[in-house]
Amino acid sequence: HLPTAELQAIDAAHHMHPFTANTALGRKGARVITRAEGVRLTDSDGIELLDAMAGLWCVNIGYGRKELADAAARQMMELPFYNTFFQTTTVPALTLAKRIADLAPGDLNHVFFASSGSEANDTNIRMVRHYWALKGKPSKRTIISRKNGYHGSSMGSASLGGMAGMHAQGGLPIADIVHIDQPYWYGEGGDTAPEEFGIARARQLEEMIAKLGEDNVAAFIAEPIQGAGGVIIPPASYWPEIKRICDAHDILLIADEVICGFGRTGEWFGSTSVGIHPHIMTIAKGLSSGYQPIGGSVVCDEIAQVIGSDEFNHGYTYSGHPVAAAVALENLRILDEEGIVTRVKDTTAPYLAKIWKSLEDHPLVGEAVSHGLMASLAMTPDKAARAPFAAEKGTVGYICRERCFANNLVMRHVGDRMIISPPLVITPADLDLVVARARKALDETYKIAQD
Ligand code: PLP
Repeated sequence: HLPTAELQAIDAAHHMHPFTANTALGRKGARVITRAEGVRLTDSDGIELLDAMAGLWCVNIGYGRKELADAAARQMMELPFYNTFFQTTTVPALTLAKRIADLAPGDLNHVFFASSGSEANDTNIRMVRHYWALKGKPSKRTIISRKNGYHGSSMGSASLGGMAGMHAQGGLPIADIVHIDQPYWYGEGGDTAPEEFGIARARQLEEMIAKLGEDNVAAFIAEPIQGAGGVIIPPASYWPEIKRICDAHDILLIADEVICGFGRTGEWFGSTSVGIHPHIMTIAKGLSSGYQPIGGSVVCDEIAQVIGSDEFNHGYTYSGHPVAAAVALENLRILDEEGIVTRVKDTTAPYLAKIWKSLEDHPLVGEAVSHGLMASLAMTPDKAARAPFAAEKGTVGYICRERCFANNLVMRHVGDRMIISPPLVITPADLDLVVARARKALDETYKIAQD
C-alpha cells in the first residue's frame, strides 16, 4: 500500500469518520489499520497493537479465522444475494434463525433480521407499537429507556439511546421515547448503599409508568450491562426489580444484547447473566464476530404470533443476507464447538476479574470492575469522594487513551472511565499484558494530570 502519510492525506480529504471531529483528525492523521490476527492489529507502519476492544466490541472469535472467509466465498458463489421479503427465503437465513432460536433462552424463538444493531432497534420500536395496536391497545406507544444508554445511531435507535450529545444534534428524541436515570452507583450513588441505590433507580421505571399511565407505555429497553456508556455494572438488586415492574404493569422488556450477546458475559446472552427473560433481544456485533454486518430482533412466541397475524410493513433489503448469515453460522459453530463461551465463564472472566481489580491500588483508579470479558475503571482525583475530574469532561480519559495507544494497547475511554472488551479468545497471558500496559498508561496519565 501507499506510505502512511499519503494514506492519511487521502483519508483526511475524503473520509468522514463517525463520532469524530474530522478536521482535527485530519491535522493529526488517522491511524491506518492494515492487518489483524488473533487479538493483535498491525498498522500501516508495521506497529503491532493489542486490541482490548475487539474492534468495536464485536470480534468475539478473534481476527484471521479463515473458516469465515471460506464460508463467505462459498455462499457468494452459490447464492450471493436473495431477499427474504414476501414469501421467499434462503437456506442460510432460515438455518441461522433456527440456530439463534436454539441458543436464545425461553421462548425467544423467532428472528427478524437486519444488518446492524441500529436497524434492529428501529425494528423493535415499530414492532412493539404494532404489537400493542394489534392487541387493541394502540395507546401503548411510549418506550422508556435510560440516560447514557446506547442503542445505535439511526433516528429511532439514537432516540432510544440516552446520549445527550447525540440528542442535541438533529432534534432527538423522536416522539414517545422517554428516559430514566441509569443504575450507575459509583458515579451517581452518593452516600446511598449500592443495593438500595439499585432499587431506587429501578423504581424510577415504576414512577415513569405511573406518570405516563400504564396504558400508554409499550416497552422498556436497556442493555443488561451498559457498554458504550462506560461498562456500567448495575447493583445486583437492579434487574430483579426491573423485571418485577415490567411484569406488574404489562410492559414489554427489550434487552439490547448487541454487546452482551454471544459470549461476552460468559453466557450466550447477557440477559441470562443478570437473571432476566426479556420479550425481545436486540442482537448484532458478536453474531458474526463483525466479519459481516448482521443484526436482528429475537422475539418471543406471543409477539411473533400477534405480529404475524397482519402484514408487518417493515424490512430491509439485506434482512437475512445469505452471505452474512452463512458467516454468522460459521462464527456460532466456532464459538460453540471450541468451547469459547464456556472458557470465558470458567477461566478468562474470573482471571480478568482478579487482575483487573488489582488496578484499584493505582492512585488514579477509584474502581475497577468487570462482568464476563467486559471491564472498566473509573479515574478520579479523589478516591474517597468518588469525584470526577474538574477538568473538561473526558480530558483525562482522552489522555489515558492516547497513552494506551502509545503503549500499543487499544483501550477506549468514556469520560473519565477506561474500558476494555477484548476478543473472547484472549489468553490469560495476553490479559496480563493488557493490564500491564494499562497500568503503564495510567502511570503516564497520572504524571500528566499532576503537571
Ligand atoms: N446497541 C448497543 C448496545 C450497541 O453497543 C450498539 C453499537 O455499539 C448498537 C446497539 C448499535 O449497533 P450498530 O452500530 O451495529 O448499529
